[in-house]
Parts: sequence; structure tokens; C-alpha cells
Amino acid sequence: MARAFSKDIYNSQRWRKVAHAYAESQHYVCERCHNRSFVGAGKPPRFIVHHKTHLSPENVGDDSVVYGWDNLELLCIYCHNAVHGTGMGRECVFDDDGNPIGILEHNR
Ligand SMILES: [Zn+2]
Ligand SMILES: [Zn+2]
Repeated sequence: MARAFSKDIYNSQRWRKVAHAYAESQHYVCERCHNRSFVGAGKPPRFIVHHKTHLSPENVGDDSVVYGWDNLELLCIYCHNAVHGTGMGRECVFDDDGNPIGILEHNR
């Protein structure tokens, strides 16, 4: 099915390291609303390392797009939903140790 190309990246050791390091550099604070709590009270903090230029079969081979910090943005789930709007896609949600805790599906 669609988006299999990005699933491999999100499951990779390299991406986890990059996402973790990037989130740490942002101090686990949403870059748009500066929300630290992300999903909500009582739940572990979660963040999404969003690709400003979304991954596509054409650009997954480009390290600067996939792993370049210039193309990354740390967002809470609310801002992330707002960014994507009606878009489709699939990204990884991480806990604060940088461990993937699920794949986020963007629906229309
Ligand atoms: Zn936010
Ligand atoms: Zn995103």
C-alpha cells in the first residue's frame, strides 16, 4: 500500500536517533505553541518530529530531506494536525526517550 517507503525510514535506527536528538535540541517543546504537555495530562509526553517537506517516493533517497534538521519540526499533536489539515501521510509518534510508540495516520 501507499506510504510503505516512509515506514521503513520511521522504523530505522538512524531516524530514531535523528528524531531523538532533534527533539532534545528543542527541549521537547512544541515549536509552534510551546506546549510541553503534548497529548494531555496523565499521559506520557509525546511528540511528533514532522518533516516540513513531506516524504515522498521521490525524496526519500535525499538525506537532507529525511535527516536534515532544516527540514524537521517538533510539534505537539494539536499543531501537527493543524499543519497537515486535509493532507494525507504517515509519521511516527515518539515518547520522550525517542522510542516510537506508534504510527500516526493522517486522514482527510
Ligand atoms: Zn503545539
Ligand atoms: Zn507531519
